[in-house]
Amino acid sequence: MTELERAVREISEEMRQRPDRGEVASYIPELARVDPQAFGLVVIDADGNVAAGGDSDVAFSIQSISKVFTLTLALGTVGDRLWRRVGREPSGSPFNSIVQLEREQGVPRNPFINAGAIAVTDVILSGHQPREALGEILRFMQFVADDSSIAIDEAVAASEQRTGFRNSALANYMKSFGVIENPVAYTLGVYFHHCAIAMTCRQLAKAGRFLAHSGRNPATGHLVVQPERARRINAIMLTCGHYDGSGEFAYRVGLPGKSGVGGGILAVAPGKASIAVWSPGLDAAGNSHLGRIALEALTRRMGWSIFGT
Ligand code: GLU
Repeated sequence: MTELERAVREISEEMRQRPDRGEVASYIPELARVDPQAFGLVVIDADGNVAAGGDSDVAFSIQSISKVFTLTLALGTVGDRLWRRVGREPSGSPFNSIVQLEREQGVPRNPFINAGAIAVTDVILSGHQPREALGEILRFMQFVADDSSIAIDEAVAASEQRTGFRNSALANYMKSFGVIENPVAYTLGVYFHHCAIAMTCRQLAKAGRFLAHSGRNPATGHLVVQPERARRINAIMLTCGHYDGSGEFAYRVGLPGKSGVGGGILAVAPGKASIAVWSPGLDAAGNSHLGRIALEALTRRMGWSIFGT
């Protein structure tokens, strides 16, 4: 057994036994049905070695982790013009906050808070029907993960569509400033559905490989994005990937990462590994409680923090 396999196995066992698990998100009713005891961890290193622990093959709702991939797609479509529609500064506000939009003329602070991700979704939607845009996002996810079985959990999408009043408010507010181009219902429909993509830790770690390896998926040889773009997406993940818990995540884990309220986190150790962890209980900032603790243990043990060993 390699040092990495041993680390993943031991950390997974330790996490499964911990009593502190955080609170499972319930504002999207369908997410509240998830088993709070679940825990999965998968690491794929630069040579393609896979170390897996716990529920590594159980699919969960990736929620806001999808925003890394919609950002990548939107940058591919409109390039740096994207930054006219969304900023790239940490927000210091909760994931669904509306206050900053008023100060900044409806332009969201970064592509990972809800408002920003809705604006990015709108960019992908322009010139397409909602179904085409959603198909494009899903196909991109399948392409980067090299797995055509990845699908949307329609029950989660419908659940959020029924209860997403706050996201609806954000979208309408941005629309009033002209930041949203398409009918709000269309943009939100695509947004709710890409958040409802279901993936396992194994699939997610595979999907993150291009970010860990300068834009290229080492398994397929595909150059997904230029190295410079991968570096910049990683920078935004580091500074904005955990909402107003981003500073704490950088301090404790020291890797670019993106969380979702389904309890998943995708983290990237540049040049070294792509990592996916899942534990549904969340901390106060809406990030996976044990997911963060597991990543902290892993990076410490492997010496992977980008800030030094
Ligand atoms: N679909 C969720 C929402 O918009 C995503 C939030 C998250 O994962 O942080 O509320």
